[in-house]
Amino acid sequence: MEAIAINPKESKLRVAPEWADVCFTCGTCASGCPVTGVDGLDPRKAIRMAALGLDQELIDSRFPWVCTLCGRCEYACPQGVELLKVLRRARTLREREKVPGPIHKGVVMCLERGNNLGIPQDDFLFLLADVGKELEDEGFPGFYVPVDKKGANVLITINSKEPFGEPDDMKFWWRIFYCAKEDWTVPSQNWEGVNWGLFSGDDESMKKITGRIVENMERLDCKTLLLPE
Ligand code: SF4
Ligand code: SF4
Repeated sequence: MEAIAINPKESKLRVAPEWADVCFTCGTCASGCPVTGVDGLDPRKAIRMAALGLDQELIDSRFPWVCTLCGRCEYACPQGVELLKVLRRARTLREREKVPGPIHKGVVMCLERGNNLGIPQDDFLFLLADVGKELEDEGFPGFYVPVDKKGANVLITINSKEPFGEPDDMKFWWRIFYCAKEDWTVPSQNWEGVNWGLFSGDDESMKKITGRIVENMERLDCKTLLLPE
């Protein structure tokens, strides 16, 4: 059988050139990984693939997507092998149209419309007013959702699945704000609280989406950012 040549310098997945050489296959990473065995994932295998220059095979495999990006393997590794960074980097290197599931579509939608599910601004604002009125009628006199309130202490972001399908869940935070007499606000645009660029490996989009939240903080002169997710 022909030997596979190791060429560390050519690996696109090596975030630190020395790590693969120090892995002694102890299995600490695999034993602590919550998804070891799912679709054949074993963090040791992923590291071996990268070490052997099988970058494209790893990028095309299910491993980076089965991995939850929890980071336990990297934290526990006695040799400091950067498993999490390698697996996330493999996501980044996957062609965008081959990213599994809806996450890449959500990133594109977020860039276009300000939230992962493409909820139009008018519908969002109508819903905030409507659900806010409901909460007032449930025993919170005077409650309303402050939108774009300049100078508010806390700016909150929202997971778009709540206004889309579970609007009552927004009330959990709202009740706390009401009882704590918090000074808070919701931005009318770019309010998405879940940055799917993190999960799809799309660093550029992740930065843009994060930058819009920073712009909201500056525009409204808020002091504190709340990311409920
Ligand atoms: S814990 Fe670290 S040294 Fe041990 S097998 Fe995993 S990557 Fe290799
Ligand atoms: S980061 Fe991925 S490979 Fe590492 S322990 Fe978590 S799920 Fe397993």
